[in-house]
Order: sequence, then C-alpha cells, then structure tokens
Amino acid sequence: MKKIVALALTAAVSAGAFAQDFPSKPITLVVPFAAGGPTDLVARHLAEALRKPLGGASVVVENAAGAGGTIGATKVARAAPDGHTLLVWHIGMAATAGLYRKLQFNALEDFEYLGMINDVPMTLLGSPKLPANTYRDFEAYIRANGGKLNLAHAGLGSASHLCGLMWQSAVKLDKSMTTIAYRGTGPAMNDLIGGQVDVMCDQTTNTTAQIEGGRVKAFAVTTAKPLSNHKLLKDYPSLQEMGLKGFNLTIWHGMYAPKGTPAAVTKKLNDALRVALKDPEFVKRQEALGALVTTDNRVTPAGHKAFVAGEITKLKAVIEAAGQFAD
Ligand code: ASP
Repeated sequence: MKKIVALALTAAVSAGAFAQDFPSKPITLVVPFAAGGPTDLVARHLAEALRKPLGGASVVVENAAGAGGTIGATKVARAAPDGHTLLVWHIGMAATAGLYRKLQFNALEDFEYLGMINDVPMTLLGSPKLPANTYRDFEAYIRANGGKLNLAHAGLGSASHLCGLMWQSAVKLDKSMTTIAYRGTGPAMNDLIGGQVDVMCDQTTNTTAQIEGGRVKAFAVTTAKPLSNHKLLKDYPSLQEMGLKGFNLTIWHGMYAPKGTPAAVTKKLNDALRVALKDPEFVKRQEALGALVTTDNRVTPAGHKAFVAGEITKLKAVIEAAGQFAD
C-alpha cells in the first residue's frame, strides 16, 4: 500500500515538474495539408501569436499532407503525448468521421481538445477561363457542361471536398464533375488560376487575394447570408440566396494534442491559445481574410469537444444523404 502511494506521489511530482518545464523544446504544429493553403496560413499566424504566451518558445509548422488531412491527424494521434506535437485541423476532424469507414484514429477518443481557433466562410470559385461571371450563369454553365469539367479539392474529407459534394448534391447535377484531389488547396489554387481545373470551393483565407487580383472568378459565398461586413466579398450572394435552400457551410479550425498529454500541459496550451486569440495582430490578420476568431465558449476544451461531437453527427447525415464514402 505504502509503495503504491509512494509511486503515485512520484508520478504526480514528475508530471508537475514536467509541466513546469514545458515547453522544453520547440513545439510543432502539424498542418495536415500542403504549405501555401488556408490551414497552413492559419497555423502560421497562430504559431507567431503563441510564442509570447508560451514564454518565447519556438513554435514551428510542419506540413504532413495527404488523404484529406487524415495522414497528418494520424501522425499527431500517434505522437508522444508531451505537448510538443500538436495538430491544427479544420472541419475535416468531423467530416472524415462520416466519410471514412476505416480511420487510423478516432476523432473523439484519440486527442486532447485544446480549443477552437476560428470560423471561416468559403467562396465558390471558377477558373478565369470560365465564360460565366455571375452565379446564375455559372450554375447554368455547369449544368450544361458538368461532365466535361473538373472540380479541385484537397482530398476526401477536406473542406473543399465537402463543399463540392454539398454543392453538387444541392444543385442536383445530371452529370457530376470529375474531382481532382490535391494535397491542399494551396497547390490546387495554382491550377485553378492556370485553368487546368475549372471549379473549387475554398476558405476565404486562401481566396480573398486571388479574387482581388482578378486571378480567379468568384460566384458565391457558402454562409447562409452574404458577408456584408467583408470589404471585398460583401457583394457576392450566398448560395442560399441563390436558391440552394438551407445551404450553410462555415469552416472552423481547432488545435489538438495526442491523447494522454498531461492535464497540466494541456492547461498551459489552452491558456496560451486564449491569449494568442486575443492578440490584436492575429485578430487583424484573421479578419482581413474573412475569418472570425472563435467565441470564448469554444476555446474551452469541453466546449470545443462538444462542438466537434455535434458537427460529426450533423456531417454524417449530410454525407450519407450525398451517398459518399471515401473507402
Ligand atoms: N482548404 C483546404 C481544404 O479544402 C485545405 C488546405 O489546404 O488548407 O480542406
């Protein structure tokens, strides 16, 4: 009995000592998509904002792309649970739970939830070569030519995939577009600009500058209402306004640690995240890209997890209705 108490005491003391020393080396934010895309950008902005509240620690971003984000997520689920390897992922955390019947991780069981980061609308885009300039013309053009056109996305279960799936199912195309998977919408955007692919949905974080520069055509936003406060995107209609009843898609990002990370460490990370999300420079950069920093109740680990659990249920129904599975 004495021995057990002594052991428990040693474990508690060393976990406390470990938490006190945390972070003892650079922290890696794993982004499960290619560099140059929206998730990458959010993580890079966040990495900068986290440094100060983590006592000047070095926070680096690593891109572990592929399979709609599931490769990077698996990597973090299997990493040492010491708080030095974290995941920054988006709605894919919930979408892949419905899309994949076999995953190497369980969204609700294999991670410590550290808090959400932001909400980001998407825009529906076309290559500059498309003859349409308004949503109505775009939809008519796709209806007439759907079978010949390509839709780019960042892998099965990615936000762009989900959006393309929902849009095609809402407009009930006779012939769906051929989908082309990339390792992230950063590289996909280059091909959309070049006209190698025709259509893509992407977070406004990745599309605002491209629309402003006239490098792609934008047709609509995916939120229920138009983005009336956004300087550049305020005049684009929402898909719901264009007749797609109930269409409402916002992409959210969150931060995760491997399951089993000591509570004292996850608390330090959550505290740092809360400070980072109030960093005026971070907020300004997010808002300029059309993203909204998350609400306080979703920065608590419990609030974050409850939100994701709700999204899993909601998206499973959407995915089942679209009749899609990745495996
Ligand atoms: N926006 C991408 C997606 O469609 C991912 C990325 O490259 O950030 O999920």
